[in-house]
Amino acid sequence: MNIKMLILAALIIASQLSGAFKTKHVIILVMDGARWTETWGESNKAYMPRITSDIAPEGAVLTEFRNAGYTETTAGHTALCTGTHQIINNSGKELPANPSIFHYLRKQYELPKTDVWVITSKDKLHVLSETTTPGWETYNPSIDCGKNGTGSGGYRDDARTFSNTCSVLTNNYPAAMIVNFKDPDSYGHGKKWDGYLGAIAAYDRYAAALWDVIRNDEKLRDSTTVFIVNDHGRHIDGVKDGYFSHGCTCDGCRHILCIAIGPDIRRGVTSDVPRNQTDVTATAAYLLSVAMPTGTGTVMKEILAEEP
Ligand SMILES: [Zn+2]
Ligand SMILES: [Zn+2]
Repeated sequence: MNIKMLILAALIIASQLSGAFKTKHVIILVMDGARWTETWGESNKAYMPRITSDIAPEGAVLTEFRNAGYTETTAGHTALCTGTHQIINNSGKELPANPSIFHYLRKQYELPKTDVWVITSKDKLHVLSETTTPGWETYNPSIDCGKNGTGSGGYRDDARTFSNTCSVLTNNYPAAMIVNFKDPDSYGHGKKWDGYLGAIAAYDRYAAALWDVIRNDEKLRDSTTVFIVNDHGRHIDGVKDGYFSHGCTCDGCRHILCIAIGPDIRRGVTSDVPRNQTDVTATAAYLLSVAMPTGTGTVMKEILAEEP
């Protein structure tokens, strides 16, 4: 074998080794409107026992994760989908200015609409499936939002969102989806403290059950990364009306949960690197090898296992 052939052989082996990450599916699982002080910041993790026992030890916990933009529902979800901070109308009357990870995935990989999903208890969040940037309508993801599933009819039960999510996951094996569970926020606005805590505990059961579905499915196991996050928190006690509301820059509104688990995520790490929601999008895009030129976040390499 001459030197040219040796170099060629080395190049071929190198190209095979520098393959993609193991992640083929990303799920952004949003717990709407819970404060850090009632989730991971609660000293006994009393309201998220399953995430604490089943998920966190196998994944990465970010302790300095924040909504660094507008601390409302639509803005928080928009940051997670588009990787940008936008002051956006919170009532579903305005579309995100930038394409989302779902749009970019469909375009780059020529994916069918059923490979990317926006599944939300809140009907207004159907706006996450669109953008005002011209030319992207043909790449919109599938939606299942609100009571009618079409982005209208009002809010629906989180239980239905959970069962629909499991169906989509195991029927379509989507490349990416975002899921919104509304109840912590709804009970908070309803001024029902016990209901608010109970809704966090219900999300904990949904997240653990979803992870069980993933672990027990050979097409999802070892290829699915899940981000457990909030869209925003709620005011700290003593700021405005406390846990009833949110929307300001207090640390209760900003400081939120982010736990990541998946085949490319380091196991059992706790990171105090300051991060925000746009970094989730950047990391998800990096794992799925999709370019998002409009995203402003940075990849959270501190929680990733070895580069492939
Ligand atoms: Zn919200
Ligand atoms: Zn606040």
